[in-house]
Amino acid sequence: MLREMKSNRREETTEELRVGTEHERVIFRSDSACGYRAIIAIHSTAMGPAVGGTRFWHYPSQDLALVDALRLSRAMSFKNALADLPLGGGKSVIIGNTSSINRAEIFHAHGRFVESLGGKFITAEDVGTTPSDMEYVWEETRYVAGLPGKSGDPSPITALGVFRALQAAANHRWGSPDLSSRTVVVQGCGKTGYALARELHNVGAKLVVSDVNSNQVNRVIEEFEARAVVPEKIFQTPADIFAPCALGGILNDETIPQLQIEVVVGSANNQLLEARHGDLLHEKGILFVPDYVSNAGGVINGCQELLGWSAELCLFKVNAIYDKIISILDLAKANSLPPYRVADQLARKVLSTAKSVDQRPTESPEA
Ligand code: NAD
Repeated sequence: MLREMKSNRREETTEELRVGTEHERVIFRSDSACGYRAIIAIHSTAMGPAVGGTRFWHYPSQDLALVDALRLSRAMSFKNALADLPLGGGKSVIIGNTSSINRAEIFHAHGRFVESLGGKFITAEDVGTTPSDMEYVWEETRYVAGLPGKSGDPSPITALGVFRALQAAANHRWGSPDLSSRTVVVQGCGKTGYALARELHNVGAKLVVSDVNSNQVNRVIEEFEARAVVPEKIFQTPADIFAPCALGGILNDETIPQLQIEVVVGSANNQLLEARHGDLLHEKGILFVPDYVSNAGGVINGCQELLGWSAELCLFKVNAIYDKIISILDLAKANSLPPYRVADQLARKVLSTAKSVDQRPTESPEA
C-alpha cells in the first residue's frame, strides 16, 4: 500500500507559470496517476496569507482555467482588502469532469499541492466542491477551511451581505434603503440566491426568479411567492434591481443592451465579463455594485476558522458592507466614475501600502 502511494506521488509534476507581474505566483500541478490537474494562483499576500476557494470545473482548456484562476484570485485580494481582513487573495481551480473521478484521490492530491506552498495559500470549498471534499484536503494539509462542523455553510451570511449591499444601493439610488416596494430579479436560486430571496421576501420585496434547475425555482416560488421566468428571458425582465447569483461573466456586450433595471447587485463572482462592461453599465445609467464588495460575507464568515473570530464579530463585519458600499458609491458619484473603478482603486491602494508576507520582518523569539 505504502509502495503504491509512493509510486503515485512520483507522477506529480509541478510547473511555475509566468503570467505577467500582477500575481505573486501561479503554479500548475498534475498527477497523472489519478487524473488531477490544477492551478493555484496567488495574487497577493500583502495583507496576509492568500485565501481563496477551490473551484472544480470542466474547463474546455487549461488556458480558460488559468484566466478564471487569475481573475478570481485578484477578486479575492480586492475583496479581503476592502473588507479590512488581514488576508491576501488566491484561488485554486481543478480542471476535470466532476462526475467521473475518484474524489478522495483528487482532493488528496490537491491537499498535497496546497501543503507544498507552506501556508502562503489557504483554501476552502467553492463551485463544484463541498465541505466533505475539504476533509480529504485536510488529511494532507492544515491550510484549509470550510470543514464540516466548523464555520458552516457560508451562503446564508453571504446572502445577508448581498442584502445589505442592495439596501445601500437602494439608498444611494432612490434615497431610502427600504426594499418593500422594489421588484428584484434573481438569477440563480442556489445556495446564495435562495437565501437572498428569503431576505427580500421577509421585507416585502417582489421577486422574479430563474434557474436552469426547475427544482430550485419551484422551491423559491412556493416559499417566497416569487414569479419565474425562463433563464433566457432574465435579462429582458423589467424590474428595479437585478441580482446575479449564478455565474460570472453575465454582464457583457450581449446582455447589457437588454437590461431593463436600474441597479445590479448580486452574489456571483466576476459578474462583468470584462472591466469595460462596468463602464458600459455606467454610461447606460445602471448602478453596478462591485461584486467582490457585496459578496464578502462568505470569507468574513470563514474568519471564525481562519482567525478565531466570534460569530458576533463576523456578523458585525458583514453588516459593515452597507457602509463600505455607501462610501464607494458616494466617492464614485463625486468623481463621476463607475463604482467598480473606485473600488479597484481603493483596493489597490490598500494592497500597495501593505507588505507581502515575505517582506515582513520575522518575529524575534525575544520579542
Ligand atoms: P450554487 O451552485 O448553490 O447556485 C447557483 C445556481 O445557479 C444553481 O442553482 C444553478 O442551477 C443556477 N444556474 C446556473 N446557470 C444558470 C443560468 N444560466 N441561469 C440561471 N441559473 C443558473 O452556488 P452559490 O453558492 O449560490 O454561488 C453562486 C455565485 O455566488 C457563484 O458565482 C459563487 O462563486 C458566488 N459566491 C458564493 C458564495 C457563497 O457563500 N456560497 C460566496 C461568495 C460568492
